[in-house]
Amino acid sequence: MNLKDLFPIPDFLNFNNFIVFEPHPDDADIFMDGVIKKLTLKNKNITLITVTNGDKGTYNPEQDEKSLKLIRKEERLNANEILGIKNMIFLDYPDYDLPEKNIIVKEFIKILRELKPEVVFAPDPNLPYEVHPDHKLVGEAVSEAFFFSSMPLIMKDYPSHYVDLISYYLTPYPNKFVDITDTFEFKLKSIKEHKSQFNEENYYKMEIYLKIKNREYGEKIGAVYGEAFKVFTPLHLHTNVDAINL
Ligand code: ZN
Repeated sequence: MNLKDLFPIPDFLNFNNFIVFEPHPDDADIFMDGVIKKLTLKNKNITLITVTNGDKGTYNPEQDEKSLKLIRKEERLNANEILGIKNMIFLDYPDYDLPEKNIIVKEFIKILRELKPEVVFAPDPNLPYEVHPDHKLVGEAVSEAFFFSSMPLIMKDYPSHYVDLISYYLTPYPNKFVDITDTFEFKLKSIKEHKSQFNEENYYKMEIYLKIKNREYGEKIGAVYGEAFKVFTPLHLHTNVDAINL
């Protein structure tokens, strides 16, 4: 028996209840919209949680936080229309100014125990050279909440809930590729809604990047376009020296 058989990783596409956590109002679109659209087309239950309001996401000194936050919320909702996302939670933390991890983890544990997902998605917190603290913190906090949500003596006022899988998008160590050939166009369309983030020139570059990258992932499974994930059970996330290779 090898370690892959000892720690099997079920196919997340077979589950029904999902939560997608994203640090900013466009992260999920860029890295996993193909899968989101695939799941909503199958009438799966998906809740999207945008942790910060993205109010610092600009290079324009004339832009103010208050109006940028509203613009980004509207862009998020427009993209949701395209994707068929009906359950949306804006946690509304300021961009680049999240509270310390402990506070966020507790909030996430409450959410997991209330919504009872089988699978949670988050950005991979182990992305070398990633500089944005919101990405690292959200990835770490979701991982911690995922692991400890099942332990009844932690936060006893909220009955424990076991989450089967965590699936990281934006990962350099993928172990799962999903065919998104049929939903790739929806992904491009929804990214286009984030006009505050992508002017025409930026969007053009992003489209080329995604065509290259999602083709590369698709090739791994004989598809035209694919998306890549690192998927773990709770067993992989604690004292497992082989997790990176599984
Ligand atoms: Zn982001």
